[in-house]
Amino acid sequence: MADVILETKGLTKSYPMSGGRELSVLEDINIRVREGEFVSILGPSGAGKSTLLRILVGLASPSKGEVLYHGIPLAKALPKIAMVFQSFALFPWLTVLENVELGLKSYGLSDNAAREKSVKMLDIVGLDGFEDAYPRELSGGMRQRVGIARALVVEPEILFMDEPFSALDILTADNLRGELIDLWLRKIMPIKSIIFVTHNIEEAAFLSNRAIILSHNPGRIKADMFIDLPHERDKNSRDFKYTVDRIFTILTKPEQEVPFLLERERYQFLPHTKIGAIAGLIEMVHDKGDRADISVLASDLSMEVDDIFPLIEASVFLGLGEIKEGDFIITDMGRQFSDADALKKKELFKATALNNIQLLKQITQVLQSTSKRRISEDFFLEILANHFTTEEAWNQLETAIDWGRYAELFAYDYDSGELYLE
Ligand code: ADP
Repeated sequence: MADVILETKGLTKSYPMSGGRELSVLEDINIRVREGEFVSILGPSGAGKSTLLRILVGLASPSKGEVLYHGIPLAKALPKIAMVFQSFALFPWLTVLENVELGLKSYGLSDNAAREKSVKMLDIVGLDGFEDAYPRELSGGMRQRVGIARALVVEPEILFMDEPFSALDILTADNLRGELIDLWLRKIMPIKSIIFVTHNIEEAAFLSNRAIILSHNPGRIKADMFIDLPHERDKNSRDFKYTVDRIFTILTKPEQEVPFLLERERYQFLPHTKIGAIAGLIEMVHDKGDRADISVLASDLSMEVDDIFPLIEASVFLGLGEIKEGDFIITDMGRQFSDADALKKKELFKATALNNIQLLKQITQVLQSTSKRRISEDFFLEILANHFTTEEAWNQLETAIDWGRYAELFAYDYDSGELYLE
């Protein structure tokens, strides 16, 4: 999985109000932004989108929780980030070129080097020939091109954009969206991720490969969904319309009615393994002193490394083992699991599975939230179908059912094809 660049943990923001009360604007925001992600943040007006953005770039601090940049607290991290504002935020008394150069001021470049970089960037955003113009001489679209050039010239790792096209007319905005996507896809820039605040659903569906939808009052993450449509996206295609509908539904429905709440992270791919085989492997390696060379292990079991690997991967997912330097090592949890009696084994497995396996957590949550405590497998297959082929969706659910039943998280009725809580 790609590297996590930016992460928020339990981020909460509130503002003091009169009478000693607090206005809670953002609550328990947990986000991991990875390399390659173009993330849109959507939500109704006042949901806290701008506040979140300001915290992510370090312009404001959270009341609780933290923001990590490559695992380091943001304030200590010297993040390579830049921001494009809705209002362009250009200095009217500086020329276009000087406005862009300004972005480089704190980078210690020579004047010549800064000029060269800025001219090149203006060329990339289509402003060749406008270097000496003043912002007032430019149209809104051109001003925002300057805003984008000023942000890109510092070669940020993450580009933040706060409703950058909402002050522009429709055609200009469309045009700039197309160019932004082009810049992003052609990887001309070293940008690894874009975080884009918008209240425009179509815009989010057109540009991003992930949408985080905030609820209002206080702003909480209502859904975190992946948009796996290929570019160039056709706004008239069925898939595009479906994506727009889905976001619209989530935005407008009350939080508790949103099943998409489940889509918090990209799905883990569960290796197709039976729990008995995983348990067997853990116990065997535990007997060997909790560590074994993977290729030796394979030959001891008369298996190919490729065949044993899903078992090892499943153990790692479940927190029972880890891989280090070609060895498979049993974790503390794995040791406890091996030494436990049958009943205790189930308990330990239940805890570690719920902690580590997203699909099991979701199935359990959904079952607990329905009054009948019973739901058709089709419900989960449909969600999984957003992430896997139909056949793989079945395999994933089958594996989850095997693990879930063992852990006694839920039961499965073969005749009706329903999962249920006992
Ligand atoms: P959005 O960008 O989603 O429209 P904002 O982040 O601008 O939302 O604002 C979220 C909420 O926080 C609003 O209710 C706003 O009034 C409140 N808010 C923002 N900044 C402050 C502040 N400095 N003091 C008090 N309340 C604030």
